[in-house]
Amino acid sequence: MDIVNNSVRSKRRKRIKRHRKIITILLGLVVLDIVFFIISNIILERKFNRTNYTSQSALDWQLILANPWNPIPKNFTVETESFNNGHSVDKRIFDDLEKMLDDARKEGLSPIICSSYRTPEKQKSLYKNKISKYLSDGFSNQEAAIEAAKWVAVPGTSEHQTGLAVDIVAESYQILDKGQENTSEQKWLMQNSYKYGFILRYPENKSDITGICYEPWHYRYVGKEAAKEIHKKGICLEEYLEQIL
Ligand SMILES: [Zn+2]
Repeated sequence: MDIVNNSVRSKRRKRIKRHRKIITILLGLVVLDIVFFIISNIILERKFNRTNYTSQSALDWQLILANPWNPIPKNFTVETESFNNGHSVDKRIFDDLEKMLDDARKEGLSPIICSSYRTPEKQKSLYKNKISKYLSDGFSNQEAAIEAAKWVAVPGTSEHQTGLAVDIVAESYQILDKGQENTSEQKWLMQNSYKYGFILRYPENKSDITGICYEPWHYRYVGKEAAKEIHKKGICLEEYLEQIL
């Protein structure tokens, strides 16, 4: 009987030991996750020169700043106007955008708007899809969220939600990658968009300031005066605002 009891006790002890081990491992993983989250935030904090404009209301409507550290105000609304292809933008920039695309076509080019105004819901679904992609590539939750945010703005911080931004591609090359910069359409837009009040919003050498990777297709309306200055000085919107505020 004693032998049986001992064997039961010994089994129970082993089971308890095993459970303790599992709990310790799980706790360790949770702690590691928290440490990783804190470290990645510190890295992000150092990597990007976070400009924070607390008073968006002080800015002209066309200079509104939406970036990872400056969300669009909660009460933000925009009146949009649509093109025949269904894409819509802030109605105040419609004519300038149409004129820019018309003038590009007169040069024999074929620019196509592939993304324009996005509702908060649309932005949310794009961001979620990007995170899922990184998760399926084996990234952890935190890594996936950080990587996704470099390509698709976190909902509430996307310029596409302002109605002032458009993604334009060449008809002959409709891929959103670095190769876009070699198309005649992008070369023309990079040279001329400022005349219509637009800037290439995420230049290659400004990712540390904008928080977004190089996007040779994303154009942002800032008005003709600001666009001219930004183009001439080769600065980004954050640097321009730094100068005028
Ligand atoms: Zn874009």
